[in-house]
Amino acid sequence: MQLYHDKDADLKVLDGKKVAVLGYGAQGRAQALCFHDSGIDVTVGVRKDGKSWNKAKEDGLKVQEFADAVKDADVVMMLLPDEIQPDIYKDYVLPNLKKGAALEFAHGFSITYKLITPPEDIDVIMMAPKSPGDKERDEFVAGFGVPALICIHQDYTGNAKNIALALAKGLGSTRAGVFETTFDNETYTDLFGEQSVLCGGMTAMIKAGFETLVKNGYPPEMAYFEVLHETKLIDDLIYAGGFELMWNVVSNTAEYGGLTRRDRVITDESKKGMQSILDDIHDGTFKNQWRADFENGLKGLREMEEADRNLQLEHTGKEIRKLFERKN
Ligand code: NDP
Ligand code: MG
Repeated sequence: MQLYHDKDADLKVLDGKKVAVLGYGAQGRAQALCFHDSGIDVTVGVRKDGKSWNKAKEDGLKVQEFADAVKDADVVMMLLPDEIQPDIYKDYVLPNLKKGAALEFAHGFSITYKLITPPEDIDVIMMAPKSPGDKERDEFVAGFGVPALICIHQDYTGNAKNIALALAKGLGSTRAGVFETTFDNETYTDLFGEQSVLCGGMTAMIKAGFETLVKNGYPPEMAYFEVLHETKLIDDLIYAGGFELMWNVVSNTAEYGGLTRRDRVITDESKKGMQSILDDIHDGTFKNQWRADFENGLKGLREMEEADRNLQLEHTGKEIRKLFERKN
């Protein structure tokens, strides 16, 4: 993959340009604050008098309603939840977007699945930091940045890549490294990762491990420690040094047990499940289901959240986590 660093990006590309950051949540806040510190002329676009409106004002940033923020902007960043982007785009962005402006995303969902089909006379780009917003901001404040991806979907001005790279530089990401890919590849891999491993796979594995121990008569408190609490300790090692570091740090018994038993957990059936998850992402099945639930007032999502809240694992966790709170 093509990798870019500081020397490949020039913040001057954004000189005299106005950047509108729509949304002031996880990504919007982190990115807007970093851009501001990097000398970029940034305006936050949010709904009037909402939580974000006040927060952005308190943070000392320029704040406008969506339509006003877009009117003047040379770069419009869609840092709103993916499911609401199409409506905000239709109502406020498209009617106010300047010819030759850049429409920017932090995830490819809306473009890949054609929930947003931008006009031909603009640039359409992505700059996706590979990090939650808070960490992005912390790394920037510490003088570095988190790695990011950039993608060019439409290059009307001929300057699309330079703008994407400049935004990445404004976030400090070119200090770490910026890979170039496509909207589709970003969308498909991102969704697959969160569904099969990060959010879906991991919770399913923890839940199944917990239930197996409790069914065999072990106290839920012990089950919680062994299958949930310690996932962080193990993942920190994998994050820092890959499997190799983790295998070196855990006991030989844990290493031998893990290596000889893991294929009983993730079996050929599980791998077929993973493939079907990817197939659903590719052929639009997942997108259609998610859109249908959104249009149905998120009824399915709320029911599943409620079911998870009622898991014994979650009740046990609430009590255990209190023990980790310092009392003085
Ligand atoms: P958030 O859920 O944190 O966005 C919240 C913002 O959206 C708030 O400013 C909120 O305003 C506004 N908002 C929510 N609902 C509405 C609505 N109905 N009408 C108007 N404004 C609304 O989003 P994220 O930062 O998580 O995601 C933004 C993009 O970044 C997405 O494309 C996501 O996929 C991508 N991304 C996210 C990452 C993350 O760390 N979360 C990582 C990488 C990419 P108010 O306060 O007024 O409600
Ligand atoms: Mg992701």
